[in-house]
Amino acid sequence: MRQRVVVLGATGSIGQSTLDVMARNPERFELLAVSAHQNLEALITMCRQFSPRFAVYSGNHRTYAEVKAQFSESGLTTEVLMGADALATVSALPEADTVVAAIVGAAGLLPTLAAAKAGKRILLANKEALVMSGGLFMQVVREHGAKLLPIDSEHNAIFQCLPHAVQQAPTSEIHASCGVRRLLLTASGGPFLNLDAEHLASVTPAQACKHPRWEMGRKISVDSASLMNKGLELIEACWLFDLPPEKVDVHIHPQAIIHSLVEYVDGSILAQLGSPDMRTPIANALAWPERVPAGVTPLDLFSMGALTFQAPDMARFPCLRLAADAHRAGGLSATVLNAANEEAVSAFLAERIRFVDIPRVIEKSLEHVAKGRADSLDAILAADKETRGIAMQLIGQLQG
Ligand code: NAD
Ligand code: MG
Repeated sequence: MRQRVVVLGATGSIGQSTLDVMARNPERFELLAVSAHQNLEALITMCRQFSPRFAVYSGNHRTYAEVKAQFSESGLTTEVLMGADALATVSALPEADTVVAAIVGAAGLLPTLAAAKAGKRILLANKEALVMSGGLFMQVVREHGAKLLPIDSEHNAIFQCLPHAVQQAPTSEIHASCGVRRLLLTASGGPFLNLDAEHLASVTPAQACKHPRWEMGRKISVDSASLMNKGLELIEACWLFDLPPEKVDVHIHPQAIIHSLVEYVDGSILAQLGSPDMRTPIANALAWPERVPAGVTPLDLFSMGALTFQAPDMARFPCLRLAADAHRAGGLSATVLNAANEEAVSAFLAERIRFVDIPRVIEKSLEHVAKGRADSLDAILAADKETRGIAMQLIGQLQG
């Protein structure tokens, strides 16, 4: 039986890499549904190539009649659905085995939660969903017997370096019995790793999006440049692997060859190495516990050069500290952090604020938004909304 896969955010960088791996292994995977937010042409091209049963157009840039007409003109058999609710519908389709959560930002939360409630195997790229609702999300996963497989490269690397017992059920007790001491998350350091504080103030969105090692969507590229990506990943790792932040350490590793490591009590450190190509972690998670070809050029160890490591500079990159503090503070702090970051990044991309204003907007938002418990979806969505309002005001003041 082929694995029936739903790809949310199929037009994005992760979505496209997922379809590439699936196309290389057609005997194993069948595309059941795809989604796109804006690019209707790309959605139609994808449906021509893969003939999924369902396609979701989640944006509101066109009318349903227009979208449906374009699908019928193309002679496609795919059924097209529209709107944000349809994302949750395809995530929970009874015939779906696997849901690839590759929407960017908080918009991915509800469809990913729907997949968890339906007990699916979830391939998680959308780290923002987990950051904003960690405890609640993991509770839903446990209660409904869903399986979370990370495709963020660092978390997938850690997953690969963990014993099978932990892969099956990552709890702090099982880590202890398997001798896991801590996780080492690597970070390339992004395009501004060696830029001094003074020059950071004038960097442009184009410079921030030009990552030295990875090709990614614009939002995560800016997060990588500010090290917020590593902050979000620290929180992601704590939830996914059920460990406190003291047991997750960040190492800057500019070559981006080692994708993360696990340290054991006997002094061993296991690492996962590979070319910086997201098709490796995606293929790993799609086929787990087996392996399939991913079209990735293997590393040539002889031509690789030195692998170096350094501690992150928290003074030039305050976002990493803000994220770690937000996770420690608990409650709704990580929800606020994530929403403020999304607004600040989009304002930076629109050239409304400077790169160095991103942590300022986040820090001020964390001071303003009411503290509370993150124990219901309503509370999380309300904090997300309130934060965005406050962040917009702060952005307006910074512009003025
Ligand atoms: P991207 O910008 O390339 O693609 C985003 C996708 O989400 C697109 O298909 C878009 O249509 C869809 N989308 C955007 N806004 C939406 C909305 N409001 N509602 C529904 N759909 C919407 O982003 P990406 O780089 O592929 O990243 C996707 C996710 O994966 C992010 O959470 C990112 O942090 C994570 N991730 C990406 C990489 C990478 O290498 N690109 C690596 C690790 C993790
Ligand atoms: Mg990553």
